[in-house]
Amino acid sequence: MSEFECTVIDSSTQGNVLANNQLNRYFINMGFRRNAILMKYIEKTREGSVVFTTGCGRYNLLLVGGVHGNELPSQAALVHLMEEIILDKISVKCKLHIVPFLIPFTTMNNFRKYNDMDMNRNAHSEGITKKIVDYAQNNSVTALCDCHSTDPNNKPGFASVFCSARPLFDSIKIAKHICINTSSRILPITEAGSVLYGAVEDESNLRGIPAVTCETVEEAGQITSESVNFSYSQIISFLDYFGVI
Ligand SMILES: [Zn+2]
Repeated sequence: MSEFECTVIDSSTQGNVLANNQLNRYFINMGFRRNAILMKYIEKTREGSVVFTTGCGRYNLLLVGGVHGNELPSQAALVHLMEEIILDKISVKCKLHIVPFLIPFTTMNNFRKYNDMDMNRNAHSEGITKKIVDYAQNNSVTALCDCHSTDPNNKPGFASVFCSARPLFDSIKIAKHICINTSSRILPITEAGSVLYGAVEDESNLRGIPAVTCETVEEAGQITSESVNFSYSQIISFLDYFGVI
């Protein structure tokens, strides 16, 4: 049985994510609610934005979900990974930081925005998305994977990985690896911050931490095992790039 250290990086974002009916029903169906240790961690999000840390090794990797609260599959995929680690079905050979619910308040309400702001355009300014990049920098994170989902009727609308070639070419290499392994489409831009200013991925790249944004396909506010499993495969492929799984 493996455990996680918990670090609350912002208490103003607190919310009961289990009050999200779609998510709660999925957790019941998957048996997550029967795992008392896992539930103790999920309940911790009532205190705010929590980073769950486990393991040690050469690399220091950060997985983030819930930048957009109504993108449920990637958040559930990170909870699934936590359960696999708790049950010792997966062992990671790195220091792994997992944030399944970056903004519990928005997840609880199935909102995309927080205080009417798209937090994936705000990581350069004050707020929770800046705080998670600060956390990555302060903890010498090697690379960051920001996990989202895209509505099939919105852009990009297909399974994909965003990345930038500059300033850190490693981001492209990570994205290519995930795309080859999961049949996702790569969405490269030349320069971080030039198209999506304030995205967690862009801000991370600009601060010297290679980063990608993974998208599984799901309608906003909805969740199915298919979209969760796809997000999970993208996450595993990110870890596989570093040879830690
Ligand atoms: Zn998103």
